[in-house]
Amino acid sequence: MESVSDYFGSMVFDDRVMRSTLSAEVYDSLRKTIDEGSALDIGVANAVAEAMKDWAVSKGATHFTHWFQPLTGITAEKHDSFISKAPDGSVIMEFSGKELIKGEPDASSFPSGGLRATFEARGYTAWDPTSYAFIKGKTLCIPTAFCSYGGPALDKKTPLLRSMEVLSKQALRILKLFGNTTTKRVVSSVGPEQEYFLVTREMYEKRPDLRFSGRTLFGAKPPKGQELDDHYFGAIKPGVLSFMEDLNEELWKLGIFAKTEHNEVAPAQHELAPIYTTTNVTTDHNQLTMEMMQKVAARHGLVCLLHEKPFAGVNGSGKHNNWSIATDDGQNLLSPGETPYQNAQFLLFLCAVIKAVDDYQDLLRISVATAGNDHRLGANEAPPAVISIFLGDELNAVLEAIETDTPYMGSKRKVMKLGAEVLPKFNRDTTDRNRTSPFAYTGNKFEFRMLGSSNSIACANIMLNSAVAESLRIYADRLEGSDDFETDLHNLIKKTIHNHKRIIFNGNGYDDSWIREATEKRGLLNYRTTADCMPHLLDEKNVTMLTSLGVFSEEELRSRRDIMLENYCKTVIIEANTMVSMARTMIAPAIESYAADVAKAASAKKALVADIPCSYETGLVKTLSSLLEEICNKTEKLESVLPKLHEAKDVVEESAMVRDQLIGAMGELRIPCDKAELITDKAYWPFPTYADLLFGVK
Ligand code: ADP
Ligand code: MG
Repeated sequence: MESVSDYFGSMVFDDRVMRSTLSAEVYDSLRKTIDEGSALDIGVANAVAEAMKDWAVSKGATHFTHWFQPLTGITAEKHDSFISKAPDGSVIMEFSGKELIKGEPDASSFPSGGLRATFEARGYTAWDPTSYAFIKGKTLCIPTAFCSYGGPALDKKTPLLRSMEVLSKQALRILKLFGNTTTKRVVSSVGPEQEYFLVTREMYEKRPDLRFSGRTLFGAKPPKGQELDDHYFGAIKPGVLSFMEDLNEELWKLGIFAKTEHNEVAPAQHELAPIYTTTNVTTDHNQLTMEMMQKVAARHGLVCLLHEKPFAGVNGSGKHNNWSIATDDGQNLLSPGETPYQNAQFLLFLCAVIKAVDDYQDLLRISVATAGNDHRLGANEAPPAVISIFLGDELNAVLEAIETDTPYMGSKRKVMKLGAEVLPKFNRDTTDRNRTSPFAYTGNKFEFRMLGSSNSIACANIMLNSAVAESLRIYADRLEGSDDFETDLHNLIKKTIHNHKRIIFNGNGYDDSWIREATEKRGLLNYRTTADCMPHLLDEKNVTMLTSLGVFSEEELRSRRDIMLENYCKTVIIEANTMVSMARTMIAPAIESYAADVAKAASAKKALVADIPCSYETGLVKTLSSLLEEICNKTEKLESVLPKLHEAKDVVEESAMVRDQLIGAMGELRIPCDKAELITDKAYWPFPTYADLLFGVK
């Protein structure tokens, strides 16, 4: 068998392949474009395209595609073959620099939030040379950005690249103040931990709710769930293990450093984490990972559920976004250093993050908002919708000491004065891990835990990069030209701690008392749903920050708000329609048949023994019939909400109606259905139960 190092990255047109297939001149020019963003000339593009095509064809590829990330949150591709007609009528394989650099998919059906009139439906895709091309199946995939002709971005990659750029620019200004003149770029990196569920395809097919909405809309609590904690890190079942092995192999071929895999808390729940890399690349990789999870699951007779909350009352799935910033020569800016100067610099970057998270709590909440994630946040196994930062006792004590000008007694009993002593080392100590915090410092990075499992990580990182860039911009404006750098620096750090300490919380984020304290005493935001938070994308402070940095234009923001709210409404409406249909055509008939058969059995018994009481049957039939009545009423009630939504004057109003009326009506219908499930003969129940689904994979 081939070893991993033999096939790792074999499907990627990476640096190794570039070096071996391009002339030195072309390679250097392309490298400059990748590393420094300099423009690519068409001669170079032609040479790269030719080499890429030859390499891809040698690996069996017949097609190429511009692979992009429209605002649907998944990836899109339109395949073209390399074939071309030679003058003699035979076929040749061709791929030009022009085709590599720019594409024009007919993009009229992608959401644009009004950015594009249908008569100019075409958007164009532009090559992102910082993310390597790769082969998927028989297709050479070229990572691209997707824009409309007028210029506005129609995708998630473009603003992500812009946010990385502004973060680098502002961070460089700060580094310069600390005497660093060698760093050319500052790069944000992410390692996303991806959670998911596996269920058997056979059971999945029997549940319209899973097929249409990715989550169960009905289902009583199983007798055994996750209460024994016997699944977390437990031995992996053979069927799952063989899925994981196959998945790893596919990901490794694509150059994705899939590293860690284990069972999660809920039965049938698992996690995969890669080794972190540049945010832009890791975003592409995470999209590919989610796609591969679904493809590989299908090969194993399984379905991978990426929904944030596939099962009510069972842990949902998130995606932990481990984020850090580092210089191009590998210095992690969120890690305390060895010298007082490095530590002062670390504290300034730390403060920039604290200020950013406090000032833009709403943007971070918005960046993870989907109908699916609304079910997960605050549902006692995931962070609440309130954002706060966990720093750990040690770092917290350091900040307190700075704020109050008191000496800090660190673990080594060393008095610390800012810029004068060495900071304690913050070990990634497991005793100091707080898993209930939405935003936790873990020694050299922050772990943003609010993302839902199906989210593209682009949005969260766009907001994080931008908000931190904004703090750094304000700091740099303040410190550049300062006459007394050390004093001004000290005061700036002190002031930030004082002004923003309300966002720091080291206690239990799942506790109800925290939500009260956060909202009532500290004035932190608590946007429970997508409908609550999304309109705030257009709040003046947010628009000002994002447009002045050049990450979004105002029209891009407006379109994104609309698309996100439309998506929220559509998702819930599909769920509501699915519920109505399942209740009418599956659940009610099942209860009816069962009740009728029970009644029949009672009559048969009575025919045999006239004075037999049959109180069991009578009681059961009565209960079933009254549940059936209730189901019928609640279905009608749910159905009656749907046409009202058309009356909304805009999508903001519609989303509020969905939140206030539709979701409640769905919850009401579910109750009698789940009750009926518990007293209906299993043979009659029309689809697999929670117990079947959660314990079905062998
Ligand atoms: P956990 O204890 O939360 O499971 P891990 O040690 O498994 O944490 O790391 C989770 C993720 O964090 C991995 O993807 C890892 O590569 C990533 N990570 C580690 N260091 C950094 C860093 N400096 N920047 C970004 N991500 C990082
Ligand atoms: Mg984690």
